Amino acid sequence: MPPKLCQLCNETRAVLKRPKTGQHICRECFYYVFETEIHNTIMEANLFSPGDRVAIGASGGKDSTVLAYVMKVLNERYNYGLDLHLLSIDEGIRGYRDDSLETVKRNQQQYDMPLKILSYEELYGWSMDRIVEQVGRKNNCTFCGVFRRQALDRGAANIGVDHILTGHNADDIAETVLMNIMRGDIARLGRCTLITTQGEDTIKRSKPFKYVYEKEIVMYAYFKKLDYFSTECIYSPDAYRGHARTFLKDLEASRPSAIIDIIHSGEAFEVRQEVKAKAKAQTTCKRCGYMSSNELCKACSLLEGLERGMGGLAVVRGRCRGLDVAEMKQKDR
Ligand code: SF4
Ligand code: ZN
Ligand code: ZN
Repeated sequence: MPPKLCQLCNETRAVLKRPKTGQHICRECFYYVFETEIHNTIMEANLFSPGDRVAIGASGGKDSTVLAYVMKVLNERYNYGLDLHLLSIDEGIRGYRDDSLETVKRNQQQYDMPLKILSYEELYGWSMDRIVEQVGRKNNCTFCGVFRRQALDRGAANIGVDHILTGHNADDIAETVLMNIMRGDIARLGRCTLITTQGEDTIKRSKPFKYVYEKEIVMYAYFKKLDYFSTECIYSPDAYRGHARTFLKDLEASRPSAIIDIIHSGEAFEVRQEVKAKAKAQTTCKRCGYMSSNELCKACSLLEGLERGMGGLAVVRGRCRGLDVAEMKQKDR
């Protein structure tokens, strides 16, 4: 049987089956559709203006590594005029983050972008290893998510950027849609499919990979031989998200469009005005000066609990005061 020809160019032998569409295509056509779809997402959402200083949240994992690479390619190909930076957070997890940060340092050289690394230790005086020693493994991601969010904002302010890009992909967003439905969190459901979010006084965050399938990110990294770190965090991530992920993978196996369909469903939900989270008046944290709707920001509330040796209790109290663990929970990238 003659080799199958690429269904897009009809000239070259097909070497892969595209996960998103099922088409058999050649390597060059895969690069072209993968990169062009991201460019189209960026253009439709009008994400940038020439001269913008933009930070890519870089962990050394596949998503952020491919994001840094593709942003560099698109910035040059389409003259976006962006000043691109890498911004990494060192949570202080031995055997995981120290190794992945070595990958980011190599990416800095490979992609010729300035890199800023900020650690929990220098910002908060606590590493995740020490936090886990104190609070155990149950609430570790809550601490980590709150601290990372603030650390990224502080890092962005430090290098003078006002826009952070994260590597959240279509699978992550579809999972979040499912989780918000399963939790009945309708206010968050209305926001989780937005490509850009920006709270009052916070730095803009965008997800250029909003419609990009995880499998295609892995494939792209593989064919381009990108240098990324693939080990999972040694502290157990969110179990509930794990169930949503398994469910989504099962759906994808029987119908690949399930991921995009779920995102489109999330986008189509209309959230009634009274259900949307009411913005509380913003003030500044009396301890660290970060913006906050309470006397203490979320990070400082958690830190005070840790300092009193009551880390676990601080999380419970935080919830009672309206801290939302779902918001804190961040994908580890
Ligand atoms: Fe932090 Fe992610 Fe590890 Fe949780 S899984 S402790 S959020 S790095
Ligand atoms: Zn082709
Ligand atoms: Zn604070």
